[in-house]
Amino acid sequence: MSIANEITKIKSSLPPTTTLIAVSKTKPVEDLQQAYDAGQRVFGENKALEMRDKHEALPNDIQWHFIGHLQTNKIKYIISYVSLIHSIDSLNLLKEVNIAATKKNRVVDCLLQFHIANEDTKYGLLLHEAHELLNSAEYKAMNNIRVVGVMGMATFTDNREQIRQEFKNLKNIFDQLKEQYFAESNCFKEISMGMSDDYSIAIEEGSTLVRVGSAIFGKRNYAV
Ligand SMILES: *Cc1c(COP(=O)(O)O)cnc(C)c1O
Repeated sequence: MSIANEITKIKSSLPPTTTLIAVSKTKPVEDLQQAYDAGQRVFGENKALEMRDKHEALPNDIQWHFIGHLQTNKIKYIISYVSLIHSIDSLNLLKEVNIAATKKNRVVDCLLQFHIANEDTKYGLLLHEAHELLNSAEYKAMNNIRVVGVMGMATFTDNREQIRQEFKNLKNIFDQLKEQYFAESNCFKEISMGMSDDYSIAIEEGSTLVRVGSAIFGKRNYAV
C-alpha cells in the first residue's frame, strides 16, 4: 500500500481525540512529501540535525515533534520551530530547553518521558524523579517551557498483556501528576504512547498521541 493509503487507513481507526504523529526518521524527504500531500501535518523525528534538514526542505505548516533522546548541545537545531518535545528525561534538559526557548522568545511544549518498559535501554524518568523535578524551585521558575503531558515506550515484546499493563501504568502516572500539579491547568492533557505494533492497545488505554513509523513508511533500513 502507498504511504497515502496507510495514513488514511490508520487515521480512520483513531478516535477523534487521538493525533497521529507520522514518525519519519531515516526516511527521505520525498516520503514525507507524500505523507504531506495526503494531508499529514504532524511528523516525528528523533535526530536534531535530520529534523532541521527536513524542516528546511518541507512546507512550514508542518508540526515537528521531537521524539528521540535530546542532547543539550543539539537543542539549538530544533528550538525555533519544534512544536512538541516528547523526551524530557531530566531537570537539566528541561532547564537547557527553557534557556534556548527564552532566547527565541518562545514557550515550548514538552512531555516528561517515563521509563515504563521492562528494559534497561529505554530512556525516561522514574516517578519519584518526576516529583523531584516538578517540585523543584528551578522548574517553577521556568517561563519558556510548558509541560503538557507524558510519554512512554512499552517493552519490545510479543506479550500484549505486558504492553497493556505498561500503558496503564503511564496513564496512572499521568492521572497522578495531573491531580497533584496540573489540576488547575487545561494544558496538561497529552499521553504519548503507542507505535506501529501497539498503537491500538495504546488507544484503548487512553493515548492522545500515537507515534507511528514503519506502518506508514515501511521498514527502516537501519535500527535506530
Ligand atoms: C521510531 C520510533 C517510533 C516509531 O516506531 P515504529 O515501530 O516504526 O512505529 C515511535 N516512537 C519513538 C520514540 C521512536 O523512536
